[in-house]
Amino acid sequence: MIMGELITFENGKWKTPDYPQVAYIEGDGIGPEITHAAISVTNSAVKRAYNGKKKIEWIEILAGDKAYEVKGDRFPKESQELLQKYRVVLKGPLTTPVGGGWRSINVTIRMILDLYANIRPVKYINGLESPIKQPEKVDMIIFRENTDDLYRGIEWPYNSEGAKKVRDFLRKEMKVELEDDTGIGIKPMSKAKTFRIGRMAINYAIANGRKKVTIMHKGNVMKYTEGAFREWIYELAKEEFFERVITEEEVNQGISPQGKVILNDRIADNMFQQIIIRPEEYDVILAPNVNGDLISDAAGALIGNIGMLGGANVGDSGGMFEAVHGTAPKYAGKNVANPTGIIKGAELMLRFMGWVEAADMIERAILNSIRERKVTQDLARFMNVQPLGTKDYANELVNQIEKM
Ligand code: NAP
Repeated sequence: MIMGELITFENGKWKTPDYPQVAYIEGDGIGPEITHAAISVTNSAVKRAYNGKKKIEWIEILAGDKAYEVKGDRFPKESQELLQKYRVVLKGPLTTPVGGGWRSINVTIRMILDLYANIRPVKYINGLESPIKQPEKVDMIIFRENTDDLYRGIEWPYNSEGAKKVRDFLRKEMKVELEDDTGIGIKPMSKAKTFRIGRMAINYAIANGRKKVTIMHKGNVMKYTEGAFREWIYELAKEEFFERVITEEEVNQGISPQGKVILNDRIADNMFQQIIIRPEEYDVILAPNVNGDLISDAAGALIGNIGMLGGANVGDSGGMFEAVHGTAPKYAGKNVANPTGIIKGAELMLRFMGWVEAADMIERAILNSIRERKVTQDLARFMNVQPLGTKDYANELVNQIEKM
């Protein structure tokens, strides 16, 4: 038996051996069903694309409900250590309770591996039922900063000692008045973190022949966080990409954008109507953490179904790949969930590994099966066709791949 090897990283570049070890976390709710569907489709694409010369060795890491059942802890220390060792993980959705309970394991994984970019491609697939008239114009990719902003979780309940201390400090030292029943959350945004996500998004746009990068911000109101995010990205473009990037303002002054990526910015609330009314004008969207989270679901709705979206969380030395949707508990264990989101996550993982041929096969298999109207119940109900179960749909994708 051939032993798998670790995927390694050098200056942000992935080095994938022919027999890489890749971790997986089954996830909660529908997680186990869709994760295993994704593993089987991935294995078949890799086998077909490389005639058995490449193969993934899958390593399970326990987290969420399964870890709690087996180890009495939702994210045990040994799981965190394995994650640090393998650094690349395909992950099913994990439950995060609202308002209290445990801290999000998804956020913890992003922090442990410093996965600062959440990348979510949103492209219409022919045959899907969309709420807009010309969904074929939707082809965007969202780069969301993953480690800063309000989601850092620096916050205190209104009646806590922490909130009281912050309120007292603001009153005494900063002359800011706050009501006594005010809860506190901090919105940190750093220049270095903005630069690294900006660099990744602009490099992606250049490498993939994308035409535009749009900064989504609410800098008119939150001047020193989101406003700074906007300014820092323009500064980065000038310092590091002046030969490859041109601003919209320069284009408006009559300078030709020939061969260059256009950089512009839009205010966050405006962005929501922009992507609905003029989706063809949006290409790479670069957003701080909260904006990026919100616009992802809105963009997903444009293609008719967020169940079809996969996402990558990547940094300079690791990656976590997943579906954009959650655990859909009402469908758990029923063999009806749509596994396409996490399969798209696996496709993105293969692209980061440099296994583009296998990734392309997965992409084509999904397109073919939707064209042939072989889909799970979430899509079948709008297409008036008999639905396939999760397993049969995954087998259909495997059949499609074997025919290629
Ligand atoms: P959700 O799990 O995405 O489910 C919302 C609805 O979306 C479902 O009821 C279903 O809609 C549809 N849906 C989502 N995925 C589907 C799939 N694969 N196949 C078919 N239908 C699908 O969102 P939620 O109910 O807000 O969240 C549930 C839990 O998931 C929460 O604990 C949340 O924290 C967690 N979550 C985890 C992640 C993650 O791990 N990255 C992300 C988001 C949420 P219909 O009822 O219309 O059929």
